[in-house]
Amino acid sequence: MKKKIAVLAGDGIGPEVISQALRVLDKIAEKYGHQFNYQPALIGGAAYDKYQEHFPAETKTICQNSDAILFGSVGGPVEELNQEKWKSCEVNALLGVRKAFNFNANFRPAKVRSELKNICPLKNEIIKDGVDLLIVRELVGDIYFGEKKFFNKDDKRAALDAAEYDENQIRSIAHVGFQAALKRRKKLSSVDKANVLHVSKLWREIVIEVSKEYPEVELEHVLVDNCAMQLILNPSQFDVIVTGNMFGDILSDEAAVLPGSLGLMPSASLNKDGFGMYEPSGGSAPDIAGKNLANPIAQIESAAFMLRFSFNLEAEARDIEVAVEKTLKQGFRTGDIFEEGKIKMGTKEITDKILENI
Ligand code: NAD
Repeated sequence: MKKKIAVLAGDGIGPEVISQALRVLDKIAEKYGHQFNYQPALIGGAAYDKYQEHFPAETKTICQNSDAILFGSVGGPVEELNQEKWKSCEVNALLGVRKAFNFNANFRPAKVRSELKNICPLKNEIIKDGVDLLIVRELVGDIYFGEKKFFNKDDKRAALDAAEYDENQIRSIAHVGFQAALKRRKKLSSVDKANVLHVSKLWREIVIEVSKEYPEVELEHVLVDNCAMQLILNPSQFDVIVTGNMFGDILSDEAAVLPGSLGLMPSASLNKDGFGMYEPSGGSAPDIAGKNLANPIAQIESAAFMLRFSFNLEAEARDIEVAVEKTLKQGFRTGDIFEEGKIKMGTKEITDKILENI
């Protein structure tokens, strides 16, 4: 298979973790006989230096001419965010790309591997043999995009944000959820607030209609408040969670604390044509940038997601994920996930081990 990949490394640890992900992709290409053609492009502060823009037109064109986008991270040190170069950098770059490609689905997994149980903030008896869940969040509808206004009501200041979904938006994200579940353990938890909200009543109705096309997937409906509790009380029960924009925003951040480090959190954003952007959930980590300290696993697993969801290369994606598991089982750790008795390594060295395990 021949694929063109836009590589937007960005700022901070972005370039160093992305270069490790490309080494992994090269190994996969060699092993399975694929050709991955990388198209580097500037984004974030790195783009600002050349174009005085965080998402320049040239980068957009490179993305448009590619089969997928592998994204690093953007943004400067928190104490410098008022400088022109860094002002609104994350918003301009990330939202710029999201808007340009109409990504309507966001995938945020949360995995607690049994060998990393001790860095999960939950008790060992809660996480049992580990957690492996995926949150599929609708990205372009709901309360963030409905009517919004400040107004006066009975001489008091008031405000309104309307939550709105139409059946096509719900149907589209429901299919994404069911299809993701098909590739995993075939359980889908649809999260809503159907006991109170009209938008959720429609959500549930449409999800049930779509479920007829996926008889092999077990569907359950979970109210959002219960889901928030269950993510802490018994997260292992979940496989794929599909939900609207606002509930997904909150629940995916809640689930993000489970793995114990941002360096373990890949993510993906996809549009209706299957075009996707793949990136770690964390930021540019300026505190550790350029020191060979960053954990490359989130970026490497984002590349695995790209193979699975954009190129349909399931075996190759699994190969990467299994190699990561094996490397962790062998006791190799970067500083963010280090525990006594394990072997501490740098960004490049832990990738060497992952490469040996592919
Ligand atoms: P951050 O996610 O960059 O870092 C938070 C903490 O997590 C830091 O201690 C960092 O060292 C650690 N961390 C993050 N990724 C890691 C990795 N791969 N390996 C080891 N440790 C890791 O958040 P922040 O410090 O609040 O923000 C820094 C910059 O990143 C800001 O400019 C912010 O706007 C930007 N940001 C960008 C994105 C993105 O590009 N998607 C997301 C969040 C924040």
